[in-house]
Amino acid sequence: MKQRGRIFVVIALFCSLVFQQTAWGKTVTAMNNLNELELIKPAEKMIIPPTDYISVLMYHHFAIRDMGQGNGVVTTQAELEDQICYLKELGYEFISLETLNEFLQRVEKEKVQYKRRDNGELGLGLNKKYICITMDDGYMSNYDLAFPIFRKYRIPASIFAVTDSITEQSGLKKFTWDQAQKMVDSRYVKIYNHTANHVPVDLEEEDEFLAEVEKAEVALEKYLNQKGCKALAFPNGRFTVYTQEALKDMGFDLLFTVDHGVITRQTSPYEIPRVNVESGWCGQDLVENIERAARKSFVRKEREVNYEKKNHSR
Ligand SMILES: [Zn+2]
Repeated sequence: MKQRGRIFVVIALFCSLVFQQTAWGKTVTAMNNLNELELIKPAEKMIIPPTDYISVLMYHHFAIRDMGQGNGVVTTQAELEDQICYLKELGYEFISLETLNEFLQRVEKEKVQYKRRDNGELGLGLNKKYICITMDDGYMSNYDLAFPIFRKYRIPASIFAVTDSITEQSGLKKFTWDQAQKMVDSRYVKIYNHTANHVPVDLEEEDEFLAEVEKAEVALEKYLNQKGCKALAFPNGRFTVYTQEALKDMGFDLLFTVDHGVITRQTSPYEIPRVNVESGWCGQDLVENIERAARKSFVRKEREVNYEKKNHSR
């Protein structure tokens, strides 16, 4: 009987240990899952008011008919129209780069004025939903297909032109300087710098790259009669701190990259992210992608700010 009792106790102990281990293991796994869910879910579900950021759309080429899958940067005229109508329906206001520049200057001024109170806040807290349209490279389709839509809906848009390829009419068909001036005269479109040769700075020496920027600026002044701020989109979105600083010294107000994101209170005017508009997107697809870009910008920045705060308090 004693012997049996001992065996029972040993078996019971063994069983309880095994049970505890399993239970503990489950708890740990459950906790891990919870942490993962907590990290992912809020980002996916996060609703950021569209009045807290500005998104800059990046288009390239336009076509009448759908070019099919894989033509990532070709938007049909019908898609463009659908996107504009949908954004207008949702209450978005399209702004020019001039207006964007004024917004960003105001934000910078506030930051200097209230420097001690700037705690890494991200929201712009605007009175309306704002959006900018940009097009890269200067394709003929910008004039043929997109410009009539901008005129029809009376919305501003900006083109970053590769000036040599317009002057020489090289590569995929570009609009002419005369057509560029017509767009400028309509007051709906402005033409800005995308360098003279479209060679990204990582494939070219920094000073040579800056010379190509200067060459493009000279061409814009020579061929076009337009006033306003100085803006540039880096070819392929590539830049270096040196070129960024040099362009700032050259008097550029706004510099655009191809980073996927939106403008928040913390965005530098010399490193503005954009939302690349892909082929086949209807208005709703575009808005979903803008919201995704916003979540990305806000979540990433929030993590950076929290990390800085944590390190600061140590
Ligand atoms: Zn380009």
